[in-house]
Amino acid sequence: MTHPRATGWSDHVSCFCSACRPKSAISRRELLCTSAASAIAASTAIIGTTHAQQPMPGAVPGRPLLIKDGCVLSLDRAIGDFERADVLIEHGKIAAVRPNIADADAEVIDAARMIVAPGFVDTHRHMWQGILRNVLPDGSLDDYIATVQKTFGANYAPDDVYAGDYFSALGAIDSGVTCILDWSHIHNTPAHTDAAIKALMDSGVRAVFAYGNAQTTDGRWWEAKGSKYPDDIARLRKQYFSSEDQLVTLYMAAPSGASEQILPSFKAARDVGARITIHVGVGERGRAALLEKLNAANALKSDTTYIHCCTLNDTEWKLIRDTGGTISIAGYVETLMGHGSPPIQKAIDIGIRPSLSVDVETSVPNDFFAQMRTVFSLQKKDVWDRRLAGDKNLPKFLTVREVLEFATIEGARANGLDRKIGTLTPGKDADIILLRTDRLNVMPMNNAVGAVVTSMGPQNVDTVLIAGKVMKRNGQLVGVDFGHLARLGDEARDRLYASANVKNTRI
Ligand SMILES: [Zn+2]
Repeated sequence: MTHPRATGWSDHVSCFCSACRPKSAISRRELLCTSAASAIAASTAIIGTTHAQQPMPGAVPGRPLLIKDGCVLSLDRAIGDFERADVLIEHGKIAAVRPNIADADAEVIDAARMIVAPGFVDTHRHMWQGILRNVLPDGSLDDYIATVQKTFGANYAPDDVYAGDYFSALGAIDSGVTCILDWSHIHNTPAHTDAAIKALMDSGVRAVFAYGNAQTTDGRWWEAKGSKYPDDIARLRKQYFSSEDQLVTLYMAAPSGASEQILPSFKAARDVGARITIHVGVGERGRAALLEKLNAANALKSDTTYIHCCTLNDTEWKLIRDTGGTISIAGYVETLMGHGSPPIQKAIDIGIRPSLSVDVETSVPNDFFAQMRTVFSLQKKDVWDRRLAGDKNLPKFLTVREVLEFATIEGARANGLDRKIGTLTPGKDADIILLRTDRLNVMPMNNAVGAVVTSMGPQNVDTVLIAGKVMKRNGQLVGVDFGHLARLGDEARDRLYASANVKNTRI
């Protein structure tokens, strides 16, 4: 299998760096301060200019990168935010964040009229479904299990897993998600596993590969003939994940079911030093006090992320908090498919800051802007509802800054990577996004965090760096052959529909 991301850099399409900016264009500071000037900047910025051939930043190995004159949201409270500042990157890591950095050797990325922020971190996405996007927009959780898992999943070939993971990874990067946990329960054979890991590594995304069970036509994954779950995790640790200091790292995705089925996965994970992720508190199935049972077996530790948590009881919530676990809320899918109400306030009340996740692209948009807005609006709705009902002891409303923290640093924590990513802090890896403020959905810019959380979308994601490597520039993924990509997706989709014996009407 070859992947469509070529090794060379694509050409510039347009640029607003100081050298290329039209003479009539004005600085971001002027844009912020002068409403009349904003209108002028709007026309010039949107039209833009076409560059002559210019090397893509980062094309020279070892040369520092300097992100210049952006509105910097470090999300590191010790560093703070800057209306205008620079970020210096050396050897893939953030070397400095402050105004007016001078480095004559550095290659400059002009961030005027852009917000510079940590990349978003998704803590739970079933990436093998990347070729099944939008297949189930109206479906419930039961519909999802019947269609996506038992019909399609049971018939996946390793090449289909590769294509799904690859599409999902590129889509994540394109929308500003720089780190993603692949909740991968498509391991019908070890060849499926190898394909998923290869796709993640080929894509260039920072990923956590969470190794999960097989899919079968009857849901009895433990009877799948070709599956080596969970014991094959020992091979994966040795073959692919011998170091933690690499872009793709290893988790165990523990199955849903009774505690006796789950405990062997927990043990296999801990035997190889892999952290764990597990769905809990999902609809009626989630009311079985599972965490109390796992706790009775001393299985709950700080190495575990609990997904959804919508219908957990109070004792289970306390167990998560007291054992130091992290949680992942997939607010959009939870409201859509009947998991239960996203437990945003519940988590905050008990003292746990949630991370966020997309979950399934079969039903959910793949970007984090939608996730942030979902939890922001739902928490406010709940508080307003309580007030209307006469509740006098109301919690605080969430702020946009808290939601942006959920989407970045809390995600990094749940993915076991907060020492490396999640904030723009010197010493951390340079996983950085540049978001355009010269677009009609946010201009003129008045409140940077507000713009990101309430108004932006993937169309604002201009530039994406992962470990200092430029993955997206001028709104285009770097080095991706879209013709090849389209063929890869179409062929995998058509092959899968044929093997699953499903007619695809496309409408
Ligand atoms: Zn899920």
